[in-house]
Amino acid sequence: MAEYKIYPLKLAEFQKHEKSTLLYLQGAGEKLVTPIIAYLVQGNGLNILVDTGCGGPEWSAEHHHPIVQTEDMLLENALKAHGVKQEDITCIVNTHLHWDHCWNNDKFPGKKIYVQKKEMEFALHPLPTQWAYYESEEIGLKPPFKKTMEQYILVDGDTNLYEGIDLIFIPSHTPGFQGVLVNTTNGKYLIASDCLGRFENWEGNGVMKHIPSAIHVDLNQCYATYDKIEKICDYILPGHDGKVFDETVYPPEK
Ligand SMILES: [Zn+2]
Repeated sequence: MAEYKIYPLKLAEFQKHEKSTLLYLQGAGEKLVTPIIAYLVQGNGLNILVDTGCGGPEWSAEHHHPIVQTEDMLLENALKAHGVKQEDITCIVNTHLHWDHCWNNDKFPGKKIYVQKKEMEFALHPLPTQWAYYESEEIGLKPPFKKTMEQYILVDGDTNLYEGIDLIFIPSHTPGFQGVLVNTTNGKYLIASDCLGRFENWEGNGVMKHIPSAIHVDLNQCYATYDKIEKICDYILPGHDGKVFDETVYPPEK
C-alpha cells in the first residue's frame, strides 16, 4: 500500500485559548497558547492539504481571540518551506468548517475540497452554540467556507480518497466531522484535528480514558467516535497542540 509523510504546518498561535473549551470542563480559567494547525500529506506523487487555517490577527482579535501570525506562518510560506507551491496542491480536505480550519480555501482556486455532507448541512444551519465558530450569518458575518462553495465535493461517511488515504467520519466536535487516516512506514496516523484538539483529549486524565472537547453537540456521538478511533489507527494528530511541533514530520525521522 502507498505510504505517506505528514508535515504539520503552524499557521498562527492563539494567545489565550481557554483550556476548558478544548478539554470538557477541565482547567476553567486557564489560558493556553495553542497553534492553529494544517497538515500536508505527501507521497505517491500527491500533496494533500488538510485544513487551511484562520483569518489574520486583526480579524481574529475582533471576532475571536488574539493570535500571533508571523510571515512564516502564512499558509503559502508554510507550504513553500516544504517546496510546495499553491498550484502543486492535489486537493484539500476540510476536517470541519469552523473559521480557523477553512479560511484560506480560496487561495486554491479550482482545487477540489472534500468535506462531509453532514458537516455542510450543519455549517449552513448550526446550533447557536457554534455560530461564532462558523462565523454564521445569524451573527452578521459571512461564513468563510461560502467563498468556495463550487469547489466542494460532499462525501457521505467513510470514503477512500487515494490508496493509503481514507476520509473517516468521526462526528464529535461537530456533527459532520471527518479525520484523515494516512498509511505510513510506521502504521496508521489519524489526523484527528479538533475531534481531539490536544493529545490530552486522547490520553485522558486517569479518570476519563478520553476527554471530549467542550465544543460538541452530542456526547454519545463523541464516545462512539472514540470507540471507532481506537480500532482504526496507531497514532493520532491533534488540532491545537504545540507538542505536534516537537517533530517536523510524521512518522518522526530517527
Ligand atoms: Zn473547530
